This record gives sequence, C-alpha cells and structure tokens, in this order.
Amino acid sequence: MALNDPSLDARVRVDSISKQYTGQDGPVQALQDVSFEVEDGEFVCIVGPSGCGKTTLFRIIAGLESATSGEVYLTGERVEEPTPNMGVVFQEYHLFPWRTVSGNVAFGLEKQGTPEAERRERVDHLIDLVGLEGFSASYPKELSGGMKQRVAIARALAADPELLLMDEPFGAVDAQTREMLQGELLDIWQETEKTVLFVTHDVEEAVKLADRVLVMAKEPGRILETVEVDLPRPRARSDAEFGEYYERVLDLIRS
Ligand code: ADP
Ligand code: MG
Repeated sequence: MALNDPSLDARVRVDSISKQYTGQDGPVQALQDVSFEVEDGEFVCIVGPSGCGKTTLFRIIAGLESATSGEVYLTGERVEEPTPNMGVVFQEYHLFPWRTVSGNVAFGLEKQGTPEAERRERVDHLIDLVGLEGFSASYPKELSGGMKQRVAIARALAADPELLLMDEPFGAVDAQTREMLQGELLDIWQETEKTVLFVTHDVEEAVKLADRVLVMAKEPGRILETVEVDLPRPRARSDAEFGEYYERVLDLIRS
C-alpha cells in the first residue's frame, strides 16, 4: 500500500457508501454517498431521525452487510466481513442466554484460542471495568437491561479492538440507567483510549458524549453536517453552552 494512501491516516474511513434496498414499493435509498473519517481515540456520534440509515451504516461498517457501492477501511484495511479488530454493541443485547457473564465476555477470546489463564485474567479485568464484580457466574436472564448492556460492552472490548462500534446501545434502558451508562462509557473510553463510533437518535446523548457529531437526514440517508462539540466533560444538559449545541443539532435534524 502506498505511503500516501489517505486511508492509513484515519482509524476509520468511510468512503462514498451508498446502499439501496428493494422495498415493497420499489427501491429505497437507505444511504447516499456517505463519507467521513474517525481519528484514533476520537469519540464520534452519528445522530439522525428514525429511518435515516443509521443501523444500515452501522452494519456496513461492522462488515455484517455489504454496501451497494463505496468502501470502509479500518486502520487502512478494507472491511468486508466482521473482524475482531472491531468490537460491536447492538441495540438489543444479543447475549448468549446459555452462557454466564464471564462466558459471554470470554466468547471471542475462546474463538481466538487465547490460553485459559490469560483469558481468565482478561475477562476478570473487563468485568471489573464495566462494574459487574460479583456477577461473573450470573446468567443474562438474572440481569437488568443496564447490566446486560455492560456485559455486551465488556464482550466487545475482550479482543482489545481498534474500534468500539455501537448502535443505540442504551436505547432499551430507563432514563436513569441510561445516564449512568453514558458516564461509565466515557470513563471506559478515557481509560482504554479506544476509538468509539456511537449511533443514536437522541440528540442529548450525542452532545453529551461526542467530540464530534455527524448529523444525518433521511430519504435519502445522508450526512448533513458535522458539529464539533468543544465542551469539557462531564457535560450537563443544564449548561448554557450545552443547550446551544443541542439546539444547533436539533435545528439541523428538523431542517
Ligand atoms: P435507522 O437505524 O436510522 O432507523 P435503518 O438503517 O434501520 O435506519 O433504515 C434505513 C431505511 O432503510 C429505512 O427506510 C428502512 O425501512 C430501510 N431498510 C432497512 N433495512 C431494510 C431491508 N432489509 N430491506 C428493505 N428496506 C430496509
Ligand atoms: Mg436503527
């Protein structure tokens, strides 16, 4: 690969992605010419209304679905199928019900053939990192929604991925738990120095978390604008400057 290849500079490079589905009433342009980059260590949120193609984009970046045209690169490597270099967290918990918390977190490491002692140490560390000490032997059905999503985050981090990719991960939990998980995710991001790409329809969540917010619109699904959020963390909805960013992103979505 040439040294001046621009895809080597960014942790993630999404290059002119379009996706067309065949819907019941003809073709649906779920994504049209979506391009952006995410730098190493950045926390980027993608925000937009329901149906603007966020989940489609998430699935294409994760290598779970193919684009009609365009390419995705992770650290300069073309993504064409799921890779352990990317940890993904879905909106629904997607845990293995027959595995314990530690069994869920260990899944990817088992597949990679990580030696047991190392695996156990890593799993214990991750369970502590997401605040689930004491629940290693519990099964998903014994956990609250917020705890299940903590397990999903730990599992996504297990293989020490270059990117943490999340699709509305806190969409199914109550407001109080959501706020707690947002704070915990920021702590994990700061501690692990991971690159995070986080999809949400919630403007407040995006402004609270992101270094940069990519605002999407629908029909066709596309990126309207990028908003840099230059505010110290932790951020509070009640801060005047927070409100200004919030209104700006909301205005873009409504326009
Ligand atoms: P979001 O996650 O932002 O709500 P989606 O990516 O789920 O948006 O959907 C974007 C558009 O693509 C919607 O119009 C949706 O109905 C359509 N769509 C998504 N998946 C499919 C599919 N498998 N077949 C046909 N249309 C789809
Ligand atoms: Mg979605």
